[in-house]
Amino acid sequence: MGGLRTAESLRRFGYSGDITIVGGEKHLPYNRPPLSKDLLAQGKDFDAVAFPIKDSELKAEFILADPATSLSCHEKRIYLASGRNLEYDYLVAATGLRSRQMHFPNNLKLGRYNLRTFDDAKAIGAAATPEKKVVILGAGFIGLELAATLRTLGCSVAIVALEAIPLSPILGDDFGLAVQKRHEKEGVQFHLNRSVQDLIGDQRISGVLLSDGEILECDLLIEAVGSQTNTEWLEGNNLEMGNGVLTDNSLRAMRIDKSRVEDLFVVGDIARFPYLNIALPARRIEHWNIPVECGKRVGREISAIEGSESSSEFKQGEHFNPLPSFWSDQFSISILSYGEPKIADTISLLEGSLDSEFIFEYRREGSVVAVAGIGMRRKISALREEIRL
Ligand SMILES: Cc1cc2nc3c(=O)[nH]c(=O)nc-3n(C[C@H](O)[C@H](O)[C@H](O)COP(=O)(O)OP(=O)(O)OC[C@H]3O[C@@H](n4cnc5c(N)ncnc54)[C@H](O)[C@@H]3O)c2cc1C
Repeated sequence: MGGLRTAESLRRFGYSGDITIVGGEKHLPYNRPPLSKDLLAQGKDFDAVAFPIKDSELKAEFILADPATSLSCHEKRIYLASGRNLEYDYLVAATGLRSRQMHFPNNLKLGRYNLRTFDDAKAIGAAATPEKKVVILGAGFIGLELAATLRTLGCSVAIVALEAIPLSPILGDDFGLAVQKRHEKEGVQFHLNRSVQDLIGDQRISGVLLSDGEILECDLLIEAVGSQTNTEWLEGNNLEMGNGVLTDNSLRAMRIDKSRVEDLFVVGDIARFPYLNIALPARRIEHWNIPVECGKRVGREISAIEGSESSSEFKQGEHFNPLPSFWSDQFSISILSYGEPKIADTISLLEGSLDSEFIFEYRREGSVVAVAGIGMRRKISALREEIRL
């Protein structure tokens, strides 16, 4: 998505050079949020998630199913798995994340799933027929959304997670408990403060052994335990990597020696970009609106360097400071958040009640850094004006 949004922005701001979009998957760019929600619930097909692309306006060449394997910043060239290589004037790294894989002593493969790609969602959809016993490892957003969708499809669903309360590391204990209770009402079982220690079965999983010795029957194990950045192809260029790629405030990649690479931009889930007003280390944000904002900005910045964007309202190199936002739909729960609740030192219930709709406010050193809630979308949206990040 970040790659496509950058290309669209380049054209919007008049860039007339060639644009090549290289993708590791065989699919054209698509929207990931429905993968855990409607696409799976309603068995929809690729067209339902494909981003509309106007070829005549975008005028980009797509090279698909041919991932980048390495980069030489010095030669300004990327190398692809097929052996092909491409020279560039500007490179935009937008390679996102892949699911983190667990390793067990009895490391069976059949019956195990992750969810990151369209193909992953189709595989889960084909396997998760009614009455199947699903165990989801992880109680983050993807785990909870999957639990809700698969429960709706008639599967029995158990969630196993290390934390005591789902979502509490992100939204706080009270918010997390409110979400957990609604899931329990719909029949989702939680096994919290626990992990899966081993898999049970011969060729295919038939159960999981939890860290406290309990055994759960299991036809499908879905590991929703976080992700890893797809950044290996950038190695060998002295970039400041580790948790994504560190950028300066205009999304240009930074080297270990703190100099910046003028023609290498980083967007979306892999970009670790600095705060403007908060004394905290640069951070990565895995929300849908960030690749959108990054793409718009980088397209405009490159167009400005090339001279096709010269409006007075845009200053090259100005601090990139988008307001992060995300939503999540689980059963009838609709969560909306603006800002960064994770960095708060104080959380307070601003409005509503925990068994219906509510809004929490998140402050850090007295300033509002996020608002989030269930329902009350209009009010939450209006409150984002208060956020200082
Ligand atoms: C199941 C699911 C549900 C989600 N739901 C929500 C939600 O409800 N709300 C929300 O705010 N966010 C949600 N997100 C997060 C959101 O979709 C991501 O933040 C967003 O897709 C990130 O965009 P991106 O462009 O950085 O990366 P991606 O969209 O992941 O795109 C990265 C692309 O790079 C390709 N690639 C990887 N390695 C290489 C390589 N070496 N060479 C070439 N190409 C490569 C990948 O194949 C992929 O096509 C969800 C994500 C998932 C997976």
